[in-house]
Amino acid sequence: MSVLVRIAPSPTGLLHIGNIRAALFNYLFARKLGGRFMLRLDDTDSTRSSAEYAQAIQRDLSWLGLTWDLFGRQSDRLARYAEVLGELKNKGLVYPCYETQAELDLKRKTLLGRGLPPVYDRAALRLTDADRAARDAQGIKPHWRFKLEHTETVWDDLIQGPKSLPAASLSDPVLVRADGVPLYTFCSVVDDADDGTTHVIRGADHVTNTVVQIQLWQAVTSAPVPIFAHMPLLVSATGLEMSKRLGTLSIASMREEMGIEPMAINALLAKLGTSDPVAPRLSLDELVQEFDMARISHATPKFDLEDLRSMNAKILHLTPFASVLDRLAAQGLESVDETFWKAVRANIEKIADVRNWQRIAQGDYSPVLTEPDFLKEAAALLPLAPWDETTWGTWMDGVKARTGRKGKELFRPLRLALTGLDHGPEMKYFLPAMDRDRVLSVLEQ
Ligand code: GLU
Repeated sequence: MSVLVRIAPSPTGLLHIGNIRAALFNYLFARKLGGRFMLRLDDTDSTRSSAEYAQAIQRDLSWLGLTWDLFGRQSDRLARYAEVLGELKNKGLVYPCYETQAELDLKRKTLLGRGLPPVYDRAALRLTDADRAARDAQGIKPHWRFKLEHTETVWDDLIQGPKSLPAASLSDPVLVRADGVPLYTFCSVVDDADDGTTHVIRGADHVTNTVVQIQLWQAVTSAPVPIFAHMPLLVSATGLEMSKRLGTLSIASMREEMGIEPMAINALLAKLGTSDPVAPRLSLDELVQEFDMARISHATPKFDLEDLRSMNAKILHLTPFASVLDRLAAQGLESVDETFWKAVRANIEKIADVRNWQRIAQGDYSPVLTEPDFLKEAAALLPLAPWDETTWGTWMDGVKARTGRKGKELFRPLRLALTGLDHGPEMKYFLPAMDRDRVLSVLEQ
């Protein structure tokens, strides 16, 4: 069996953390099993979908490195959905309904008011041929519902284990709206059947859809039902449901406003809610190697922006200069060289923070001068320019020999004088970015 998985985002907004988690798990699963990963835009609702969002989805996935092998748009397949609807009509598995949205809303409210589940009452099934003909004659266009079998739907979920859910508590799903637009549940099944989707990996919020989609699948094709895997939904750090703000926080804003690296998102999301520790990873290949569906736990994974920031810092800490060259340039930091990168990478949370260290290296800070006499002695031993990664060591050997100081006593006053801070970059990499005359004048103040 050749594995085919897919994600089906709607281009009605930007990708957020939940979509990306589904995309990542599908991608890792496909790569691990040598299968294919498909991006399918769920865009039949032309009033809500936009070309900009469709592009943004592709841009964000590419930025994360989640490249797809197959691409499709549901809006290209309207004729096919109409054809399948025709087949379902012939088999008597769908029925036309004429209620307006307002009527349906009223039915819902009435049921809810009586403490009953707001399940569609199948009133349209009781219409006679004459009733239907009268409505058709009035030009009222029907929407089409699929008649669910009120049996238990069972499947063996790759994450949740054996599932058995009754369909009786669900409304017969609308497959095609009165304006002819086919809806996600329906398109998704037709596509999965036509494309040969083998596994559907998605959030646990789709469990109910699965009940419907398995029945629909069996109505549409005799091919085996795909294997389903429902991932536990992310919750916020406090264990509560993700807030609207966090839940819809876009990948684009993580990139553009928070300065998050793609692998920080991938590395954190790949491990959240698994039995593996969350640890920095620099490539998707490493995550592919480590991926194992069996390690996804049933516990609720907590998503915290602080963890993302800290993962970003850990990743930058490990990132070699060659891999950040273009990103430094994109931030206007092309003057940063490899030595400086080595100095600061452990002391930044995002690439833009490099600028703060650059300012300090250029003298834009308030020196803290704790021991003026010692600093003057050190100034007298400051090596001549040009400086490189060995200069600091040579200088410290000299100061040590002259003053007898070592360890913190030796370094701390110098660091405070040269950076204004108690901790920060490794000085052997940081010093070469400074101007000797300026350093001398600070030490001699
Ligand atoms: N458009 C749906 C979503 O993004 C697709 C769900 C699915 O994977 O079937 O939630």
